[in-house]
Amino acid sequence: MAVAKTTVEKIQELMHYPEQIRNIGTVAHIDHGKTTLSDNLIAGAGMMSEELAGEQRVLDYDPQEAARGITINAANISMIHHYNDKEFLINLIDTPGHIDFSGEVTRAMRAIDCAIVLVDAVEGIMPQTETVLRQSLKEGVKPVLFINKVDRLIKELQLPPEKMQERFIAIIGDVNRIIESLAPKQFKQSWQVNVQNGSVCFGSAKHKWALSIPMMKKKNISLKHIIDAYQGADDSWKQLGRTATLHEAVLDMVIQHGPNPKKAQEYRIPIIWKGELESETGKNLLTANPNSDMIFVVTKVIIDPQAGEVFTGRVFAGTLKKGQEVVLNTAKSNERIQQVTIYKGANRLLIDDAPPGNIVGVVGLKNAGSGETVSEKAVTPFESIKHLFDPVVTIAIEPKNPQDLPKLIDVLKGIAKQDPTIAISINEETGENLFSGLGELHIEIWMYRIQHDKHLEVIQSPPIVVYREAIVKKFGPIEGKSPNRHNKLYVTVEPLDKNIVDAIQSGAIPEGKMKKKKDDVVNAFIEAGMDRDEAKSVIYVHKGNILVEATRGLVHLNEIIEMVMDGFKMTMDSGPIVKEPCRGLKIILNDAKLHEDSIHRGPGQMIPCIRQSISNALLLSGVALLEPIQTIRLDMPVEYLSAVTKLIIGRRGQLLETTQEGDHATVKAKVPVAEMFGFTSALRSGTSGRGAWFLQDQDFEKLPSSLQNDVVSKLRKRKGLPADLPRPILD
Ligand code: GDP
Repeated sequence: MAVAKTTVEKIQELMHYPEQIRNIGTVAHIDHGKTTLSDNLIAGAGMMSEELAGEQRVLDYDPQEAARGITINAANISMIHHYNDKEFLINLIDTPGHIDFSGEVTRAMRAIDCAIVLVDAVEGIMPQTETVLRQSLKEGVKPVLFINKVDRLIKELQLPPEKMQERFIAIIGDVNRIIESLAPKQFKQSWQVNVQNGSVCFGSAKHKWALSIPMMKKKNISLKHIIDAYQGADDSWKQLGRTATLHEAVLDMVIQHGPNPKKAQEYRIPIIWKGELESETGKNLLTANPNSDMIFVVTKVIIDPQAGEVFTGRVFAGTLKKGQEVVLNTAKSNERIQQVTIYKGANRLLIDDAPPGNIVGVVGLKNAGSGETVSEKAVTPFESIKHLFDPVVTIAIEPKNPQDLPKLIDVLKGIAKQDPTIAISINEETGENLFSGLGELHIEIWMYRIQHDKHLEVIQSPPIVVYREAIVKKFGPIEGKSPNRHNKLYVTVEPLDKNIVDAIQSGAIPEGKMKKKKDDVVNAFIEAGMDRDEAKSVIYVHKGNILVEATRGLVHLNEIIEMVMDGFKMTMDSGPIVKEPCRGLKIILNDAKLHEDSIHRGPGQMIPCIRQSISNALLLSGVALLEPIQTIRLDMPVEYLSAVTKLIIGRRGQLLETTQEGDHATVKAKVPVAEMFGFTSALRSGTSGRGAWFLQDQDFEKLPSSLQNDVVSKLRKRKGLPADLPRPILD
C-alpha cells in the first residue's frame, strides 16, 4: 500500500508544476478583514483547525502586531487547494494595511502575481484600498475582488437584495476605474473585475462564507437565500459556511483568474527587470526556465528566533538549492545558501530545493537587504523596489547605557535591512544615530521593538522633519575650481520639471547611472516631457535630481566623468545651505578646462571641483527649503466638522474638499508634516474619539517665505554649522 504523502512532500512536488501554482496576496484598507480572510483560507486548506481560525491569527504572529491589532509584517504561507480534481499550491502573503508600512506592501507585491482586493461592503473603497491597489498594479499584479462583511449589510443595514446589488455595483465600478487608469496598457480592459465571470466574490470572512455569481448559479443560491439565512435562529447563518464555503469560493476565484507564475513572468519581467530581454538571462526570466542559472529576489527579511535572519523571496529562474554559491548583485558579495524553507504560518519547514515561480525562505544571505537580486552568476539586478513616499520624520537615538552602543548599531543596521522605508544614518565619530521613517507611528513601532524585543533601553529625541533644498530659477553657467586651481568646471542649474521629478519618484525613470543604448529610459524622459536631445544627454539620476552632460568635444572628459558623477551625488545628498538632500534639480555640465596631465586631475581635485561648481550655481540662484506635505483624509460625524476644520487650519493646513453624507463628513486636507506631530491625539480629543485620519499622498512644497530664515538657522544650529550662510567661492 502506498504511504500517504505528507503536506510538505505534496507541496514540494507541486512546486515543479508552475501551471498548478498561484502566488497571491491580500490588499485592503485596515480593518476590512484581511487577517480574518487569510486565517480562514489557511484553515480551509487544512493548515490550521477551523475553530481556531479568526482567533489564532496565524499570520499575525508578531506579538506587538496582535497587541495593536494591525498586521505589520507581510508573512507568507504555502497551502494546497483542490480545484476540478487537481491540486494547486497557493503561496499566500498577508500585507499590512496601514500606510506607514506601505514599503512592506510594495515588497510583497514583487513576489506575487495576483492580488485579492478586499473591500468592506459597508465602508466601500477607502484611501488605503486605492494606495495598495495602485502599488500592486504598478508591479504588474492582477487584481480580483472580494467584497467582505456582507453580513453587516444584512444584519445592521437590513438592505433588500436590490440595495445590496447597488452597493456591489458601486464598489466594482470604483475598483475598475482604478484598474483602468493604472493597469499596464495591454491589461486595462482584460483585468477589469466582473461579477459574471467570477472575478468578484462577496461574503463574510468572519462567518466563513463567500459566493460568486457563477457559483450562485451552479448551487442555485440567491441573495434572498442568504438574507433568509440571517433571519432564523441566532446562528442559523452557520449553514452558509457549509453550502458556500469561504475558502472554496476565494481560492477557486484565484485559480481561475490569477495567472500561474510562468505565465505572469512573461509580462511582469519587462516591468520589474530592466536588463536586456533578448539576452540569455532575459529569456530565462521570461520563461521561468528551471534549467538555467538560479535567480532569486528577496522581498522580506525577518528575524527568526532559531534560524536568525530569514530572507523570503521568489525564485524567478533556475533552481534554488541548499549549499548553492550565490552572488548578491547589489551588495556585491558572495554567499552560500544554508537552508531553503517554506512556511506553514509561523512554522518554517526545511526543503531541498525550489524551482522557479515559488516563494520560499532562505538562510545564509548575510549581506542581503529587501529587494536584493541573488543569483548563481552576476546578473543585472531587478528594479530597485520603489516606495511611494520618502522617510520624512527623523529622531536621534542613543543607548541609555553607553556600553550598549555597539549593540544598538547592530540592531539599527538589522532594521534598515528588514524595512527599507527606514533610513538610518550612523555617525561613528559623533555617536549621533539618526533614525528616519514615514511618520510618527512608523517610528514609534520600531522604538517599541528595540526596547521590548531587543531589550535595549534607548533615549530618543523628539521627532523632527527632514527638508529638501531646491531652487526656483535657472542660473549659470558658473565655474568652480579644483583645490590645485588647474581645473575648472562650468555648471548651470535649473529647477527640474515636476513631471520628471514625479516620474523618478514613481520609478518610471530609473535612478543611477544611465547606460548606453538605453532607449527605454530615454523614452521615459520623453514621455515625462523632456526633449529627445536632452534626454539622451542625461548621465545620472539621483534622488529626484538629474545630471546632464552638455560639453562639446572635450578630450579628457571620459577620464573625469565618474568623479563628476560622484561629486554630483554627494552634493545632492547634502545640499549647500543646511546639508539636507536636494530635490528637483537639473545640473548641467556645460564645459570644462582640464589639466593635460592626469596626475593633476584625480578624485581629490575633481570631486571638490564639481561640488564647488554646483554649490556656487545653487547659492547664486538662491536656495529655498521645501517641506514635506501630507494629503490626508479625515472621517468624522458631522457635528465635529467645525472642530476638525479648526484643527487643520491651526496646523497651517489647507482644506481641499469637504463632503457630507447623512450624519457623516469627510474632509480632504493638506497639512505640513512639521505640524502633524501629536495630530492623532489632538484629533481624538477634538472629536471624542470619533474622528479618524488616513494618509493619502505626500509631496514636497516650498516652505512659506516667512518661515525660511527661522528654519534654516535652527537646522544650522542643530547640525553644528556656523550661523552665517555659506557664500559662493568665485575668486
Ligand atoms: P485587517 O486589519 O484587514 O487584517 O482586519 P481584521 O481581519 O483584523 O478584521 C478587522 C475587524 O473586522 C475584526 O474585528 C474582525 O472580526 C472584523 N471582521 C472581519 N471580517 C468580517 C466580516 O465578514 N463581517 C463582520 N461583521 N466583521 C468582520
